[in-house]
Amino acid sequence: MNKKLQGYVSDFLRDADEHGHGMSHIERVVAMALAFSEKEGADSHVVMLAAYLHEVDDYKLFGDEDADTLPHAREFLLSLGVSAEIEVHVLDIIKNMGYNKYLKGIRPSSLEGKIVSDADMCDALGVTGILRCHDFGRSKGRIFFDSSVAPVRAEVSSEAYKKKDDQHSVQHFFDKLLLLPDIMMTKSGCDEAAKRQNVMIGFLENLFREEGSQIWLDYLKEFLEEHKIVPSV
Ligand code: ADP
Repeated sequence: MNKKLQGYVSDFLRDADEHGHGMSHIERVVAMALAFSEKEGADSHVVMLAAYLHEVDDYKLFGDEDADTLPHAREFLLSLGVSAEIEVHVLDIIKNMGYNKYLKGIRPSSLEGKIVSDADMCDALGVTGILRCHDFGRSKGRIFFDSSVAPVRAEVSSEAYKKKDDQHSVQHFFDKLLLLPDIMMTKSGCDEAAKRQNVMIGFLENLFREEGSQIWLDYLKEFLEEHKIVPSV
């Protein structure tokens, strides 16, 4: 079933990579979610299905209506012949995960959902997260860091997040990425996210130092203090 599903999803999302939601992201989320699942004692079959299918109706790729009704995930689950119980569980996970859902106060409730959500968010962190953020910005024609742009200190609501048009990609670390470890839902997710957050903080410190940007170095320090983030050395 694994190979069949991988084939379906990879054919279906052939053109999605430029948005950071392509097959390489999905394969990393599947692998991380399965590793978390083993540690947390969850149902790995459900975790695997939800991890593979979590992008096939994403609002950024397919619009809000598909994100609500999940037609592609339903179709794939039907062709795999899974039980009605598993179908309901997997669709429930996909419907309730994602950062935009979190901003609306919606979160997955089952252990399997929490695991897939944590793995998905962890993939926006660490070295992979830095590269995805860089690639996403480039796909929108933005530069990665502009030291002449002042840090924006505003909170981002769900609607504003959907429409947001940053001047440069580094702002996104402060709007979302560095805050993700706080919203992990499992112990495995917390541990992995903390390690990855640390990598990103070290990266930003070095970037700002190399760019000679005291304003951004000060902002990083202030941000870490405000959010009680203590990087390990
Ligand atoms: P999610 O799948 O959790 O909703 P997004 O679609 O917002 O995540 O983001 C997908 C990838 O693109 C992430 O790695 C994220 O960091 C990056 N990304 C999203 N928005 C921006 C942005 N404004 N600037 C830079 N990178 C972004």
